[in-house]
Amino acid sequence: MPDSPTAETRSDPAASRLRDLHDRVMMPNYAPMDIVPVRGRGSWLWDESGKRYLDFAGGIAVSALGHAHPELVKALTEQAGKLWHVSNLLTNAPALELARKLCAATFAEKVFFANSGAEANEAALKLARRVAHDRHGEDKHEILAFDNAFHGRTLFTVCAGGQPAYSRGFGPVPSGISHLPYNDPAAAAKWFEKNGERTCAVIVEPCQGEGGVTPATRKFVQTLRACCDRYDALLIFDEVQTGMGRSGSLYLYERLGVVPDILTTAKALGCGFPVSAVLTTDPIAGHLVVGSHGSTFGGNPMACAVAGKVLEIINSPELLGNVEQRSQQLIAGIEALNAKHGLFSEIRGIGLLLGCELESRYAGKARNLLSACTESGLLTLVAGPGVLRLAPPLNISEAEVEEGLARLDRSVERFLKSADRSA
Ligand SMILES: *Cc1c(COP(=O)(O)O)cnc(C)c1O
Repeated sequence: MPDSPTAETRSDPAASRLRDLHDRVMMPNYAPMDIVPVRGRGSWLWDESGKRYLDFAGGIAVSALGHAHPELVKALTEQAGKLWHVSNLLTNAPALELARKLCAATFAEKVFFANSGAEANEAALKLARRVAHDRHGEDKHEILAFDNAFHGRTLFTVCAGGQPAYSRGFGPVPSGISHLPYNDPAAAAKWFEKNGERTCAVIVEPCQGEGGVTPATRKFVQTLRACCDRYDALLIFDEVQTGMGRSGSLYLYERLGVVPDILTTAKALGCGFPVSAVLTTDPIAGHLVVGSHGSTFGGNPMACAVAGKVLEIINSPELLGNVEQRSQQLIAGIEALNAKHGLFSEIRGIGLLLGCELESRYAGKARNLLSACTESGLLTLVAGPGVLRLAPPLNISEAEVEEGLARLDRSVERFLKSADRSA
């Protein structure tokens, strides 16, 4: 059979007809890879041509239980046959059950549901402003955030983020947000001495994800906690990427020994079904009075049925223990590979969120390494121009991590060959 579409895409994945359609019908804010995945199972994805990829990207640290997990498919399809949506004019059983489980598993006493990380952070920041307004009046509205932080893409959250390039060029932006260097406790303490009275909240990722996979030091978050206590400001942990088992604990705050006032969680919460949550205590939650905030879809039965099952599976000793073991295996493997190739200056991260910083002679080339990985059948992420980021499923097997390391080894060889050619 000459020229069947399958043969065509097999010979040249770049000729994907679906990928061409993207450029015709989608706004140009994304530049997706040439391959178009059509099916996933466990730690694997298949593209249109039938090529198989080991997925260490997980849709940006979302697919924490891999693809098409049978228990999640069951939870979703069972709920789909019962009830999809009622809005917040009514409550629903899956949302109440998920909220109950989140409160039981964390410091939280109250939960607000939304649909994305940005929406959860938007709600958290609004809540912090409202609490300070009620308690101290309108002058206490300043928000402290950090350089290189990422908190989402709404106008408020993108300004809380510490990458000015993302918020520039959209006209007037919300005011009252300041940025300091990350992991600099002295700078934070000094800033509070001057501005503490006016400060309503600190928002921080306990490990910066997009900004380079940089874990916070204990000293840093302990200092933020102490400053917030002293000046009655609220400490917001953005655990959108670090939460739901990624660190080997359900939430990273448990490991740091610092309890936030507000915590946001999204990404892996629905393992690919859009859902997010804001967690907090009773006294803080009390300020979000009837009518003060809301969402049409937030807490919808479908999302909450899936997330309830995700939480049940992830918050178990077996799953969290696997994160520890596979993390050690993966780090040891990358270090061995690096001893051979001398490509990375640092390998860092938490649990199964790892960042491999490229040596200075390969500065800015993380995307090239990612492309080499894709060619070798390994999907990865970057975190800025100089860091390769890995976020495999939390239930990945020992054999799959070995396979991933073998593919990474081939990718590094491929990358070094082309880097040497262009040098
Ligand atoms: C991904 C991410 C967000 C934004 O989440 P969206 O669902 O894309 O809105 C916010 N904060 C952190 C730390 C993230 O990693």
